[in-house]
Amino acid sequence: MRRKLVAGNWKMNGTSAALDQVEKLKSDHTNPSIDIVLCPPATLLHKMMHSIGNAPIFAGGQDCHADVSGAHTGDVSAEMLADCGASYVIVGHSERRTDHRETNDQVRIKTKAAWRANLKAIVCIGETLEQREAANTLDIIVGQLAGSIPDNATGENLVVAYEPVWAIGTGKVPGLDDIGEVHDLIRTRLERRFGSGVGRSVRLLYGGSVKASNAGDIFDVSNVDGALVGGASLKADDFSPIINALQ
Ligand code: 13P
Repeated sequence: MRRKLVAGNWKMNGTSAALDQVEKLKSDHTNPSIDIVLCPPATLLHKMMHSIGNAPIFAGGQDCHADVSGAHTGDVSAEMLADCGASYVIVGHSERRTDHRETNDQVRIKTKAAWRANLKAIVCIGETLEQREAANTLDIIVGQLAGSIPDNATGENLVVAYEPVWAIGTGKVPGLDDIGEVHDLIRTRLERRFGSGVGRSVRLLYGGSVKASNAGDIFDVSNVDGALVGGASLKADDFSPIINALQ
């Protein structure tokens, strides 16, 4: 049985004042039966761990460098995230793939780095609008999945997030059938590559314009184990109803 998971990706948003939202989330969710992960900017991770305290909320990074340390100005390693108290890291987000030209190969190496630091990797994949309109979605997903995930994946160290690029921050969401089709494909491919035990235990998240009003329907789709939420994770009043829709 896969544990449900809702992760909030704050992207490049939030200074210390935003930690009030963590206090609010804590009081909303004293004993969640699902995993909640908050991925703030790296600058906030350490303070966020203090805000979380003993509450059942995990923290994660939004990216990591492949190396442990070295001459990589501006970068943060998986070990540094772990040192701050993170237990997850997002890798291969479409904004990294676009803004920093990250390739599947680089995402795979970063995923290995996450595992080296004992972090769970949330590996993001998803097609652009152009690719969807050209009916290439499934091929893109298969290619990104094969290229971005190293061998040795397990249900413990890997989460896959399907985030159609055109659905991120746009208010547009694929049809429920389309979400189901992609999630079923991801599940089948993971089972084929890693064996049915591992393939069935990896959690699959949907991401892209998830909000309280559509979360329930999305969570009912087969092979959707939760969500990776951007904008609606910034305020507890928006995020908590999404979490509650999973319960
Ligand atoms: P939105 O929820 O703002 O569409 O962002 C999704 C996302 O990119 C999460 O990683």
